[in-house]
Amino acid sequence: MAILLNPWAKPERWLDVFRELLPDLPIHLWPDIPKPEEIRYAIVGDHPAEDLRRYPALRAILALSAGVEHLVGPAVPDVPLVRLHDEHMSTEMAAWVVHWVVHFHRGFDRYADQQQRAIWQVHRPGRANHHPVGILGYGAIGRRIGEVLADLEYPINAWVRTERKIDGVEVHAGLGGLDAFLGASSFVVNLLPDTPETARLMDESRFSAMRDGSVYLSLGRGATTDHAALIRALDSGPLRAAVLDVTDPEPLPTDSPLWAHPAVRITPHVSGPTNVRTAAAAVAENVLRMERGEPPRPVVDRRHRY
Ligand code: NDP
Repeated sequence: MAILLNPWAKPERWLDVFRELLPDLPIHLWPDIPKPEEIRYAIVGDHPAEDLRRYPALRAILALSAGVEHLVGPAVPDVPLVRLHDEHMSTEMAAWVVHWVVHFHRGFDRYADQQQRAIWQVHRPGRANHHPVGILGYGAIGRRIGEVLADLEYPINAWVRTERKIDGVEVHAGLGGLDAFLGASSFVVNLLPDTPETARLMDESRFSAMRDGSVYLSLGRGATTDHAALIRALDSGPLRAAVLDVTDPEPLPTDSPLWAHPAVRITPHVSGPTNVRTAAAAVAENVLRMERGEPPRPVVDRRHRY
């Protein structure tokens, strides 16, 4: 039995860390796989789907990312596909969200502008509990962001696919609950995965359902946002500002009007940086679970593609 490893970058670094974490299992860097029939687990960033069919003993594919839109196509073998869930990464993403929520809530954008003109003028934004934050996609990462913001006294709204109760959170489910969710939030934080159902979900009509003066933060996947509709919502609709960590395509083309828009801030897909040590530990734990006969987690539901 052996492991195939094909990370996004720095292959030797990943190999060293996995060998430390799984000293009893042979690990081979793809494409140098001596005996394909011995591969039981494939640990991959991006990987050609057809190649995964070369391993008859393959038991699971372990993604080195939380987003798996590149691994759910029909050519990928029908074995459990396990997403990356790294709590350290979720906390880093929560810090990115807190930074921007506090920035706009407390008016730090206005003070930066005032400083250019030597203006000493105080704004009174009201307490955090008057500024609900709506999280589109309340999964592994959304939950962590919700916990951290709730500690800062921001009320939390969540939008999910499957209806359920979550303590301390106002939950809205399905398309029927989306406009009410958007209208109830001063900040909308988009953490949705890229699936056929979420593609360009945030379009003209969704942006017009948002509150006057609200702020849009996007750090799930760029394909869920219609850029042209976002710019219209900033120019003549209800939005005060937008911060994008993800765009479609990436990198954002140099001629995109988003770059120069005065109400847009852009970070280059850095809200959840991959830390080799913590990510590899989460993946190695799943390999060990499967070796003990326990199920890995979280497993992707291929019908919903996330
Ligand atoms: P999860 O799968 O744990 O959560 C996804 C959430 O989205 C769930 O709450 C799910 O609802 C909801 N959802 C999915 N489809 C729909 C739909 N059609 N309607 C309503 N709700 C829907 O994912 P994670 O929290 O781990 O990650 C979220 C995304 O963040 C990843 O897919 C990835 O794209 C992105 N990401 C970005 C990073 C960055 O650096 N910018 C880093 C890491 C991840 P339900 O709970 O009902 O299933």
